Amino acid sequence: MFCKAGIMKSHILRIVSIVVLMGVSVLTFAQDLLAEQAPMDRQMARIDSVVLSRLIKAELYEYPADDLYPEWSNDYAHKYGNVAMPDSLLIDLTGFCMPTENTKVNDIFGYRPRRRRVHYGLDIKVERGDTIRAAFDGKVRYVSYQRRGYGHYVVIRHPNGLETLYAHLNAKLVAENEVVKAGDPIGLGGNTGRSTGPHLHFETRLLGKALNPALFFDFPNQDVTGDTYLYVKPKKKVYDPSDPDTYYKVRSGDTLSRIAANKGVSVKQLCKLNGITTQSTLRVGQVLRLY
Ligand SMILES: [Zn+2]
Repeated sequence: MFCKAGIMKSHILRIVSIVVLMGVSVLTFAQDLLAEQAPMDRQMARIDSVVLSRLIKAELYEYPADDLYPEWSNDYAHKYGNVAMPDSLLIDLTGFCMPTENTKVNDIFGYRPRRRRVHYGLDIKVERGDTIRAAFDGKVRYVSYQRRGYGHYVVIRHPNGLETLYAHLNAKLVAENEVVKAGDPIGLGGNTGRSTGPHLHFETRLLGKALNPALFFDFPNQDVTGDTYLYVKPKKKVYDPSDPDTYYKVRSGDTLSRIAANKGVSVKQLCKLNGITTQSTLRVGQVLRLY
């Protein structure tokens, strides 16, 4: 099995809870024999705490990351810009399962000059029909089909705050609002949507914002990058005329969207700061203010 780390952890948790319960029943038996009444309250307290922790866990999966997200909705894959990002968030990566056994990364996250668009995920080579698995415990929030985009795809929200998206699936094996465990099969690898060969397009998003999946998952080594990942909101740059990073000199082949993606600013901001529109022609050597 390739889900060693993740599955092992839940096994250990299960064993620990069985041992705790066994301990309680052995204790009950021994104490019944001795007809001692006093420790009963203590036992009840221990059983209560087991029940309580189960309830807390069930709650976690009813609305995962409830404190972070303003709503649970089955109406969209992801939203942009409507929610303020937290200043920082410690994301728990333990209990993971790699979504696929395949290790070959076909395409990385970020701007792709060749296609002049931003790639919001990682492309992992898979064979049609390969099992695709949930990366963490969680609850399926959105299941859909996009003929010219994601193809068959699934979005899962996890208690650690991340949402994972699995696209170009041949088949979907889960339904919206279904609770899944890390490693549960959620789809089959495929080539649906805008895709030129069977692969898994895998996204990791925080409050809708795409973060590089390579920050969390190391596909070639089938592992996570650590037990936790500390997300820190990038500092908003302010206008500083003495800072050369405040400006950008247009190069051959540049477009507004390319510059915006590379510099982490919006096209709208570029237009506003430089008195141009999306229809304006950029000249090579033209200097644009970025912040
Ligand atoms: Zn992709």
